[in-house]
Amino acid sequence: MVLIIAAAADDRDAVRSVWEGENDYEILEALNAGEALEILEKRNDVDLIFVDIILPETDGLNFLSRMKKKGAFAHIPVVVNTNPGKNAQVEKALVLGAEDFVPKPYNAEVLKKRIGNVMNRNLQDRDRLTNLYPSLTFYHQTKRMLLKYSDMPYVMLYFNIKGFTLVNDFYGNEKGDAILLTFAQILREQVDKRGTYGRIIADNFVCCIPNEKGDEEITFYRHVEERMEALRQQYHFNLECGIYRIDDRLLSVSTMCDRAKFSLMNIKGNRGEWYAYYDADMAMQYRNEQRIVADMEQALRERQFYIMLQPIYDAATETPISAEALVRWNHPELGLIRPDIFIPLFEKNGFIRQLDLFVWEEVCKVLARMRDTGETVCPISVNVSRIDLYDPGIGDALEQMLEKYGLPKELLRLEITESAYTEKPREIIALVSQLQQRGFELLMDDFGSGYSSLNMLKEMPINTLKIDMQFMEELVSSQRAGNILISIVRMAKLLSISTVAEGVETREQLDFLRNVGCDRIQGYYFARPLMVEAYEKLIAEEFLRRDERTVYKKGILLVDDVRMLRKSLIGALGDSYRFFEASNGKEALEVLQESVSVISMVITDIFMPEMDGFELIRELKKSSIYSRIPIIVITASEERKNEIKALQLGAVDVVTKPYDPLIVSQRVKNVMKLSETEWLQMEMQLMRNRMR
Ligand code: C2E
Ligand code: CA
Ligand code: CA
Repeated sequence: MVLIIAAAADDRDAVRSVWEGENDYEILEALNAGEALEILEKRNDVDLIFVDIILPETDGLNFLSRMKKKGAFAHIPVVVNTNPGKNAQVEKALVLGAEDFVPKPYNAEVLKKRIGNVMNRNLQDRDRLTNLYPSLTFYHQTKRMLLKYSDMPYVMLYFNIKGFTLVNDFYGNEKGDAILLTFAQILREQVDKRGTYGRIIADNFVCCIPNEKGDEEITFYRHVEERMEALRQQYHFNLECGIYRIDDRLLSVSTMCDRAKFSLMNIKGNRGEWYAYYDADMAMQYRNEQRIVADMEQALRERQFYIMLQPIYDAATETPISAEALVRWNHPELGLIRPDIFIPLFEKNGFIRQLDLFVWEEVCKVLARMRDTGETVCPISVNVSRIDLYDPGIGDALEQMLEKYGLPKELLRLEITESAYTEKPREIIALVSQLQQRGFELLMDDFGSGYSSLNMLKEMPINTLKIDMQFMEELVSSQRAGNILISIVRMAKLLSISTVAEGVETREQLDFLRNVGCDRIQGYYFARPLMVEAYEKLIAEEFLRRDERTVYKKGILLVDDVRMLRKSLIGALGDSYRFFEASNGKEALEVLQESVSVISMVITDIFMPEMDGFELIRELKKSSIYSRIPIIVITASEERKNEIKALQLGAVDVVTKPYDPLIVSQRVKNVMKLSETEWLQMEMQLMRNRMR
């Protein structure tokens, strides 16, 4: 491709006529410097520029000095058409980087020769080590070949010697050079006259060959590979090859090379296959990723990131009691980008530290504002990336931030994903313990998605488990998912760890979770992630409706037909429990059905109408769900045989009337503790059986 820059049509025609009848070159024309620069910006296949010294607005010399300063096309040879007898002009043109000059008026033959020489000189540049053509020459030659044989399909191969740096390090540069020389020789022989080849940089080579049969690249690759095999084994490298079947001839050759090079990333090395094809989808994804990384800092400055809050509901009362902050990115051109896409990229390049700090601070602002306006403030949890944890200053940073807004630690909870624990368990556990010792409440995110076992939970510094969304999806179809979920919730309870189920979308899921005792619910069933204002409104309305709530207290079901006696027991046990009441066995069963998840103990009288205490104990012990609940029986002091009968039926303890409040509450405490240890052992056994 030759670019002619001249104002007068006559001049342009004269130069054009020099190549008349030859189809080796295409001619482009520009009337002035501005137009010429525009053309150069758009295409990268210009082989030579012929510029008239006299141009409108700015002259040819000025154009020359401007274009030689642009990295992208400084290499293109320029021939200047000078005015006769102006040696100063000629000198200046050469100083500015012109390859040659032709004074006016010119002779067509002379012009043709001089331009031809410039072209050849430039294309004869060779790589010093291998004597192959370097990239620019390769691009020019390939472009010409593709134009000349426009009906022939071609394929671009990009070779990379994987492990070459190590070869240099271990065996020395001479050995490395020898390998490159051998490879260059193989390429020369294998491609020969049918295609083009060159060395792009270091251990990267390219070639462009015809592909008439449709799979010639593989035959070619196998030949090359075979000839390199001995060296490969000796020096332990792999010969990688990225392949682009040229399907778009309008692309510049350097872009074609990039595509072939890009496919190197597709190589998996499975079954000894060290080649891969260009995949447009993957390339698109890669470009998007690059874009995201390139835009992130500006995005943070310009506040394109913002948080949404997803309320978390109490399973028993179905009211919101906390929330999770989820980051969003509103990209000015790409639109809303999901965190699943950008978080992993930011974790790779470390930017997640900055972004998470931003998110945490946004959450602090929301909490502080809600407090200042006198609204009820629920805790909000934030996501903490494992990358954040590697920074020893994270605890201080969090504390300073809370201090700045005058917030207690309980309000900002930290979610750390399960996989962070399993990756480097010891380090992470130590780091997380420190955070917990400082008083932060910790949630283990995505529990059950990876490999952490229930057994590990005992050593984990966590307050809450968030059960992975996947269980919800499987709940309907898989009994096993349900069983595992039951075990997780029970085990967590025994370890005084509360549970949140994520991704709850249906009433059925909710009912199941409540029945097995899951404490809190997050998911579209109750609420999607909300904009901050919507969240604040929701909380304000919710708390207006509600006067008093009891959460996180263990529930005790009191069964007695005398209301007074129930009330006096409640007085004796104090307010560390949450009470449910029933006036006979039948009612007790009804209450249990409703609230089994939150009832940790049954205290029952013996003589009652409808269904007495003995009957109730029998019923409870029969049921697989209720049998785990410890039962304490209330008797009058003179009823020894009833006492024994109750214990035989499975009650764990007996309280005799009239009772001493201190003794009753201590007994209840002991039973709670005892049953937990027993329960834990039982659960472990169950788990082991299930996992088998
Ligand atoms: P995650 O922490 O497990 O967050 C829960 C994800 O589930 C959120 O997606 C949420 O919108 C979605 N979700 C909530 N309820 C339902 C439901 O009922 N059904 C379904 N199908 N999905 C539901 P999101 O916001 O796209 O976040 C994806 C992940 O990105 C998060 O998973 C978290 O790992 C990460 N992430 C989000 N924000 C941040 C952040 O500020 N910092 C860090 N480090 N990671 C974040
Ligand atoms: Ca989370
Ligand atoms: Ca999660």
